[in-house]
Amino acid sequence: MSTVRLNKLRQAMKERQLEAMFITSSVNRRYLTGFTGSAGYVIVTAEQAYLLTDFRYMTQAPEQAKAFTVVEHAPNVVDTIKELLSKWGVGSIGFEQDQVPYSRYAAYKQHLAPVELVPVSGMLEGIRNFKDAEEIAIIEQATAIADRTYDHILSYIKPGVTEKELELEMEFFMRRQGASGPSFETIVASGVRSALPHGVASDKPIGHDEFITFDFGAIYNGYVSDLTRTVFVGTPSDKHREIYNVVLESQLHTLQHLKPGMSGKEADALSRDIITAHGYGDAYGHSAGHGIGLEVHEEPRLSKLSDTVLQPGMVVTVEPGIYLPGFGGVRIEDDVLITEDGIRILTHSSKEFTILPV
Ligand code: ZN
Ligand code: ZN
Repeated sequence: MSTVRLNKLRQAMKERQLEAMFITSSVNRRYLTGFTGSAGYVIVTAEQAYLLTDFRYMTQAPEQAKAFTVVEHAPNVVDTIKELLSKWGVGSIGFEQDQVPYSRYAAYKQHLAPVELVPVSGMLEGIRNFKDAEEIAIIEQATAIADRTYDHILSYIKPGVTEKELELEMEFFMRRQGASGPSFETIVASGVRSALPHGVASDKPIGHDEFITFDFGAIYNGYVSDLTRTVFVGTPSDKHREIYNVVLESQLHTLQHLKPGMSGKEADALSRDIITAHGYGDAYGHSAGHGIGLEVHEEPRLSKLSDTVLQPGMVVTVEPGIYLPGFGGVRIEDDVLITEDGIRILTHSSKEFTILPV
């Protein structure tokens, strides 16, 4: 891991006039240091960069976190933190207020006094929004696994097979392709269940004349992909075709017009306006997309509430849907990189209405 990320953090600390920063989030720790172990704390000042961990990781941590001084912390980590802060004469330190339970905060406050604890939100997350070339290459590996998995599962779909059996086959396949696991609980939602935006795979067997929505992804080298496709088993009615086509039109329209400089709100409207114009606005109850990276739901959000401006280097999903309770639903989702002049689509599975014979 180079010092580029560390330098970005120091720049952000300078902007907020923080003399030191204490990082407790495991994802931010990994991002900043390259250390993939399950336990550790990071303290950064303008001059120092420390990774505190325990004896289990004293071989792994120095190998992975080359830009950091690795220290085996005392049984109670606050003793080590206090010692380091007093050694450097640090009077105040930022901490990740969204990551620290109140009881931990109270303990830090009591043990570290008179050092002032400054609550900070979204500092590393803001840096993580912008993916570097190395991260983009890894995400593309994760999206390629998702594409291959979708292609693979198509041949397993037939009436009588349960959603869970399809899920198992997908997860097994992803692991064999090099994934460390699924990005999140795999959604396989068939028939009326396809109207559930988060219908995780159940014991329901695949029936005749119904949609199946697959929403899934692979974790590869720490980074996730997130892909949704909806297929049909049997003979679709006009209504089935209509809602599929509306969602597809909305998704393609959004991809066509998505570009840097646009707000999350404007991006969301690209997808929503089409669905609303066809009379299904009320059936599209979630936002148009979200950032992905080390986590499956990151900033920026493509939502009605987001003023975040999309910028080159951000990786987001575009995933409009229509959900009709008692009937079924359709969602189509791709992962895209915002580029200097538009987007690059990272998932490539076919979006033509796939109709499988019974
Ligand atoms: Zn998804
Ligand atoms: Zn998603």
